[in-house]
Amino acid sequence: MTSNQTIECGIGVREILSGDGGVRRRLMVHCEPQHEAVYVATCTVCPRCLGIRAPGEETPGAVICRSSDDDEPTVTDDLGMRTPVRAVMERDVACVTADVSVDALVALLIRRGASAAAVVDEDGHPVGIVSWSDCLRVRAGAADAGRNAADVMTPMVFSVTETTELSRAIDLMADGGFHQVPVVMGDGSVGGMLSTREVVRWLARPRQHLAP
Ligand code: SF4
Repeated sequence: MTSNQTIECGIGVREILSGDGGVRRRLMVHCEPQHEAVYVATCTVCPRCLGIRAPGEETPGAVICRSSDDDEPTVTDDLGMRTPVRAVMERDVACVTADVSVDALVALLIRRGASAAAVVDEDGHPVGIVSWSDCLRVRAGAADAGRNAADVMTPMVFSVTETTELSRAIDLMADGGFHQVPVVMGDGSVGGMLSTREVVRWLARPRQHLAP
């Protein structure tokens, strides 16, 4: 799928079988601008990369890229937000696996003073986000007690990279109605979290501190 300013390049899995029977899986993407397949890890350091959309039930995952190097600035660019996400994201992010109970999750959020946690797979790749409001919905209904993170999380729709421009990340979050989005590192694992709370704090700083 392509818009005026973005391209979505489909993600596939390359499996490499070795002599001992082991299988290594690498995420690949067909890079339309370069007309070749590249590792998704490459995209996380590509200046065109805006984010990574997770696969849905009927849609494959994709890397979201700017369609050209000289896109028109967005409305949020006018606020001086071409800063990379790494300048604003929280690096001390809480991560849990999908089988963690809601009770343990609530205890973790309280202990860390966090508003949300990233739900990750065994390789640390994001599979969802679970927030205070998700937990409170479960706590409000006694019949639901005992659920785990997989039951209450919002499945991961997309992630951004450290180099994604803040303005682009905010546009993607606004389009999807998300308050938190995972930030992935070169190997696709969670390295931070970008939240609307941190963006607002960043905007509230004195103007002389806004430069990247
Ligand atoms: S982010 Fe860069 S390397 Fe990755 S698909 Fe887009 S243009 Fe190609």
